[in-house]
Amino acid sequence: MSEAPVDPAQASGSVPPAEGEAPAQSKKGAKKAEAKAKKEAEKARKAAEREAAAAAQKAASGGNEDLAKDNYGDITPTTKVAADKVQLKHLGDQHIGKSVKLRAWIQNSRMQGAKMAFVELREERNWSIQGVISASAEGKPVSKQMAKWVGSIRLESFVLVEATVQKPLEPVKSCRVSDYELHLTKVYLIASGPEVLPLGLNAANRAISSFEDEDPSAPAAAAAAPAEGIENLSITESAVAPSASLSTHLNNPALHKRAPVQQAIADVRMTVRKLFSEYLDSKDFVQFEPPCLIGAASEGGANVFALPYFEKQAFLAQSPQFYKQIEIAGGRKRVYCIGPVFRAENSNTPRHMTEFTGLDLEMEIEDHYHEVRDMIEGVMLYIFRGLQERCKEQIELVRSIYPSDEFLLPEPGKEVRLTFAEGQKLLREEGPEEFRNVSDDEDMSTPQEKALGALVRKKFGTDFYVLDKFPEGARPFYTIEDPENPKVTNAYDFFMRGQEILSGGQRIHIPELLEARLRKKGIDPASPGIKDYVDVFRSAGVPPHGGGGIGLDRVVAWYLNLPSVHLASYYPRTPKRLTP
Ligand code: ATP
Repeated sequence: MSEAPVDPAQASGSVPPAEGEAPAQSKKGAKKAEAKAKKEAEKARKAAEREAAAAAQKAASGGNEDLAKDNYGDITPTTKVAADKVQLKHLGDQHIGKSVKLRAWIQNSRMQGAKMAFVELREERNWSIQGVISASAEGKPVSKQMAKWVGSIRLESFVLVEATVQKPLEPVKSCRVSDYELHLTKVYLIASGPEVLPLGLNAANRAISSFEDEDPSAPAAAAAAPAEGIENLSITESAVAPSASLSTHLNNPALHKRAPVQQAIADVRMTVRKLFSEYLDSKDFVQFEPPCLIGAASEGGANVFALPYFEKQAFLAQSPQFYKQIEIAGGRKRVYCIGPVFRAENSNTPRHMTEFTGLDLEMEIEDHYHEVRDMIEGVMLYIFRGLQERCKEQIELVRSIYPSDEFLLPEPGKEVRLTFAEGQKLLREEGPEEFRNVSDDEDMSTPQEKALGALVRKKFGTDFYVLDKFPEGARPFYTIEDPENPKVTNAYDFFMRGQEILSGGQRIHIPELLEARLRKKGIDPASPGIKDYVDVFRSAGVPPHGGGGIGLDRVVAWYLNLPSVHLASYYPRTPKRLTP
């Protein structure tokens, strides 16, 4: 197709008259029209400018149109944030100026005037960072409405944010990530916190104010429940540091567990478990699984939980003792197990629970039961040294809330092993007045143990030691007596900061001896549970063996110097508490 011919008039830039228009004006008239057109164009330009300025002002000053409306609000299935995901622990200078996305809890927030808000975002544990949201003059990506909305998100809500990483003017002391801050450009609410938190995070992360505990499911406690509320917290630190009772903590598990201190304790707990297995695996132990449900209250009936079991009765195992020994009888040389242990004791103390986790081991003895004592000492020292290495940060965090002196360990080769009698002698000679007359034949009371712990620390510079050769009367029927002195046993307890964490010793492996000791203890060898146990040693020759049972909860609690084992447990079970 050929191009249309070029009109010379158009080519010169003047507009030709349209059909039906008046013929061309005079020169003077044309000039006048041109001036008028110019004036009108200028007028239109100015009006457009005014309109744009008004629109910007309107948006920035909270006018009706919210130009950032797509950048915030409740999350929907179509919400998309394209920025790269970042984990706070990996944030570095390489991220400065970049846009990132993060899912986190709002742990604190504060409006700064009408257009700006500060929020503290916590991703996990105590990994927190300051977020800044500030409305721009154009009203996007952040409008005044958006800043206000972000500043009003309830505490402990879970959000998705997009933000630009920047260096703050000064390090942000209140957040773990202090060298960077997030300039928020998108904020979506995934799950809202309640209007009033039943336990503020600041309180959850402080030392427990009282160890009074009552399960809310108990009838008396239900009536008293409202009194357990704790004041809500804002970012402005309250002048009086808030704290809450154990009861408030345990009745609000989500918030109790969110506290970085609880997560640090849980990390230490799981590390102890891991270190226990690691060491024993390296020493050729094999793990096994004992049952929790058993058919007879074999270790003395008084403190055992009974429950209906079809047409019979079952019991919850008070320890895996018999099963560890059956494994040895079954040809295993070294075994260990980790699992729940149940005690129906109405002991309302910071040391006791009705369910705790046992770290148990049993091994063949070749020459002397001290092989077992030394193995247990070895595993405990491995745990303590491992914790110092692997949980430094967690230990420091816990210490900032529950202060403690460093857990002192003996120098290699200088482990402290006293006999029970030596321990009592030390107490009589150097301990407090009230222990001047303690006897070598009677078990120690808790105050005695604590006083001895303080003496050992002072004298030997260690918080970990062994008391060996316990009096016969203080040990169960399966413990072997010292062949040279039947008043004492080949049995020991291990202590941390003056508190017992383990009982163990050599077991009787000869059925006739076992029966004789049962009778001496007033137990009928033919009684339910006991007969089956004795028969194991009758059914096959069993090598000499010994072992011990460690309370995981106590190891964690006393290592960290917590005021109660209930803080070291995931879900403490006590005579007063069966929930959550
Ligand atoms: P205690 O005299 O303190 O009640 P125990 O002598 O009954 O303890 P053992 O039966 O020897 O304890 O249990 C071995 C270990 O298990 C203890 O050293 C302790 O660490 C732990 N343990 C025992 N009972 C409890 C309990 N009720 N709650 C928490 N841990 C426990």
